[in-house]
Amino acid sequence: MLIGAVEAGGTKFVCGIGNEQGEVLDRISFPTEQPEKTLAQVKAYFQDKQVEAIGIGSFGPINIDRTSPQYGYVTTTPKPGWSNYPVLPELKKVFEVPIGWDTDVNAAALGEATWGAAKGLDSCLYYTIGTGVGVGVYAEGKMVHGLVHPEGGHVLTRRHPDDTYEGKCPYHGDCLEGMAAGPALEARWKVKGHELPVDHPAWEMEAFYIGQALVSAILLLSPKKIILGGGVMHQKQLFPLIHEQVRSGLKGYVASSALDADGIVDYIVAPGLGDNAGLCGSIALGLRAFEESK
Ligand code: ADP
Ligand code: ZN
Repeated sequence: MLIGAVEAGGTKFVCGIGNEQGEVLDRISFPTEQPEKTLAQVKAYFQDKQVEAIGIGSFGPINIDRTSPQYGYVTTTPKPGWSNYPVLPELKKVFEVPIGWDTDVNAAALGEATWGAAKGLDSCLYYTIGTGVGVGVYAEGKMVHGLVHPEGGHVLTRRHPDDTYEGKCPYHGDCLEGMAAGPALEARWKVKGHELPVDHPAWEMEAFYIGQALVSAILLLSPKKIILGGGVMHQKQLFPLIHEQVRSGLKGYVASSALDADGIVDYIVAPGLGDNAGLCGSIALGLRAFEESK
């Protein structure tokens, strides 16, 4: 069975074809431009691909309320042309197969729970620490939806005592995204993240913010695995620093061997699907939409 996948990002779109094993058989990518132009490229890509379902993991905020007339819309993005744009309805006009629709990070969490680092588990969190910070929540075998969808990138954290940077989030200033996303790193240290040496104090500060957010998430949601992806997490030295922050933040309060010094190494991990986490998540969404349609 061939499943179409769309990783709809604010900077670029990735389209691909996968199967029920989560294997990526083909992929293309193109920059995100005006929605009409970008969706025309999506339509052209899938036109002759004979997919039986499609999954779309999208940048947000998006409407995922199936009872809403705006279901499938990108909602309040500052991205020119995309605010209140009916992405899913536009694609439904041309594709008659079942189409799954969710946030990019919820999709990535589902993909990791299906084939990746959280395989076989009924709960996990997927964080992307990149241009922004996003969190996908998978719990009791389902992507968590609610009033809208989780926006865990914008939780508040305490300031690092040595940090004088004001924060970059246009809404909240010094929320997690404002302090720890790639653009915040760059603004604070005046060089791009990948140019900072691995032993630079930036990484301890970065782990300080991410670790605090994870402590809150563990206390609130009790996920069975936490997966950290996105460009900034290519800095592998962050993992042990984050493990330490989380353990010192929890202070032994949560009774699980997953949180002891050995366990945490397998509890807070990189994506098992590597840089395919996003695309595989969309394949998993498509597969789920197909199964639900039967
Ligand atoms: P996006 O979030 O746009 O989908 P990425 O996850 O690649 O894309 O995140 C891009 C951000 O991550 C940029 O701010 C970039 O500076 C930062 N980044 C990318 N690679 C690295 C790296 N190796 N080390 C530190 N920061 C990085
Ligand atoms: Zn914010």
